[in-house]
Amino acid sequence: MTSDRRSFLSATLGVATAIASGTTGRSTPAIIGSVDEPSPSADISYDPAERAAAAVDFGGLIHKQPRAVARPASAADIAVLVRWAKLQGLKVAARGQGHSIFGRALSDDGVVIDMSKISAIHHIQPDRITVDAGATWKRVLDATLPRGLMPPVLTNYLGLSVGGTIAVGGIGGTSSREGMQTDNVLELDVVTGDGRELTCSATSNPDLFDRVRAGLGQCGIITRATVRLLRAPQRVRRFQLFYRDLASLTADQRRVLTELRFDQLQGAVLPDGAGGWRYQLEGAVYHDNDAAPDGNSVLARLSDERSAAAIAGLTYREDALAFEKFENLLRSKDQWRSPKPWLLTFLPGNVAEQLARDIIAGLTSEDVGLFGRITFYPMSRSACRTPLVRLPEEDVIFVFNIIRLPPTNDAATMERMVGQNRMLYQRIRRAGGVLYPVSAFPMASEDWKDHFGSHWSGFRETKQRHDPANMLTPGYNLF
Ligand SMILES: Cc1cc2nc3c(=O)[nH]c(=O)nc-3n(C[C@H](O)[C@H](O)[C@H](O)COP(=O)(O)OP(=O)(O)OC[C@H]3O[C@@H](n4cnc5c(N)ncnc54)[C@H](O)[C@@H]3O)c2cc1C
Repeated sequence: MTSDRRSFLSATLGVATAIASGTTGRSTPAIIGSVDEPSPSADISYDPAERAAAAVDFGGLIHKQPRAVARPASAADIAVLVRWAKLQGLKVAARGQGHSIFGRALSDDGVVIDMSKISAIHHIQPDRITVDAGATWKRVLDATLPRGLMPPVLTNYLGLSVGGTIAVGGIGGTSSREGMQTDNVLELDVVTGDGRELTCSATSNPDLFDRVRAGLGQCGIITRATVRLLRAPQRVRRFQLFYRDLASLTADQRRVLTELRFDQLQGAVLPDGAGGWRYQLEGAVYHDNDAAPDGNSVLARLSDERSAAAIAGLTYREDALAFEKFENLLRSKDQWRSPKPWLLTFLPGNVAEQLARDIIAGLTSEDVGLFGRITFYPMSRSACRTPLVRLPEEDVIFVFNIIRLPPTNDAATMERMVGQNRMLYQRIRRAGGVLYPVSAFPMASEDWKDHFGSHWSGFRETKQRHDPANMLTPGYNLF
C-alpha cells in the first residue's frame, strides 16, 4: 500500500488527528551542527492545533501531520529554516493557500512553511509586477488594476497563491492566447533545497528557472516572482452558450478558437439536474467603455440554442472575481470545504471529443454532483512554452477536468472516486492525454517519470544539484 493511500484511508475514515507527544507550543528548536539558528522571525510552532491545521489541505482527502509549522517573514528566514531542517533530516513543504487537493503541500513529520507572511507587493511597472510568492492573485489584481494593468493569465479562482500556481502551471480562460501563468513569469527568487537564495530567469540560472516553473516545488521554494503585465480592458462581455450535445459544442469551440473570437474561452459539461447533461461554451470579449462588441457578429454562424444564451456586460474586475459568487453558493450549501476528488487532464485534440463522450457516458451526475462540472474546452498549445508543463503533442488540445463536488463525503465514496480517477487517468494516458498535476489519486515515481518523459532526466539532475537530500515538497512522491 502506498503511503498516499494509507494517509488517504486514515483521513477519510476519520482517524483522529494523532498529535505526536513531546514538544508543544512555539519555541526555537535545538540546533544540531553548525547551521544558523532559525531567527525568531521564522516563527516555528509545535502547537498541536497549528500542526493539525497544516495536516490537511483543501481537498480534505489526505492527512499528514507535520512536526512543526513555520511562518517565516523573509526569504532569508526560509533559507535558514531549510538548512536547519536538512540537518534534522526533516522534509519541507511550502504552503501557499493550501488549495492542493491530494496532500501536495503536506509534510509527514516534517516542516510546513506557511507562506502567508511573505506576501508583499514590491514594484509595479507598466509591463511587470514583482510580488512575494505568498500573495494571492487577488492581491496582485488589486494592486495592478488601479493602474489599468492585469496579469495576462488569471486562474478562475483568485484565492490561490502566486507561488502555489507557479509550482503547477496556472491555467485560466486566456491560456489559449497567453499560455500558462508560468509562461508569463520573467524572474523568480527561490530558496533551494540546500538553503541557498538564488535568482533565476531565462538568462540567469535558466536551468533552475525551467525546473522551478511547474516543477512541483521540487528544486526550490519560490519566494518572489516578477510577472508580465498587460493593459487591462475596462469591460468584459461574457457569453454563455448552450448546446444540444457534445458534438455541436465541440464544433463551435473549435471554430471560435480558430477564429480568435474570444479573449477568454472555456466550456463545460454540466449536470442538468434530471440525470442528464448540459453542454456549455463560455467566451468573453474584452473591450473599453465606448467599444462594446456587437453580439450578433460575435455569435454569427454558431449553432447554440440561442434562446438559452446568457449574455452579460461586466467590468473587468467583476469578471475576474466572478468565481466568488460560486464560492459563496458552495459555502451557503456547506459544500465549499467538502472533499475534492478531482481529476484534471489535457486530451489530444484528435481524440478529445470521442474520448470525452465515452468517459462521460460512464459517469453519472452523482459522480460529479449537482454543483460539479466536467470542464471541457480547446486550447492552442503554441502559447504554452514552459518545459515542465506537459501537454499532448498536438496543436489543439482539450482541457478535460472532472470537478467533482459529491453530495456525500463518506469514505467509501471518496475511495471509489479516487480509484476511478486513477483508472480514467490510465485510459487518458493511453490515448495520448496528459495529467495536470492537480489531481486526486496517488502517483508513484514511475508515473511521474512517464509523465515528464524526455524532461525527466534533466529534471532529476537539477533536483539532485539543488535539493541533494530530496527534502523539498514530499507530497508529490516524485523522487
Ligand atoms: C477552488 C479551486 C480553484 C482552482 N482553480 C484553478 C484554476 O483556475 N487554474 C489552475 O491552474 N489551478 C486551479 N486550481 C488548482 C490550484 O492551482 C492548485 O491547487 C494550486 O497549487 C493551489 O495554490 P495554493 O496557493 O493553494 O497552493 P498550495 O496548495 O499551498 O501548494 C500547492 C503546491 O505548491 C507548493 N508550493 C506552494 N507555495 C510554493 C512556493 N512558494 N514555492 C514552491 N512551491 C510552493 C506546495 O508545497 C504544494 O506542493 C484550483 C484549485 C481550487 C481548490
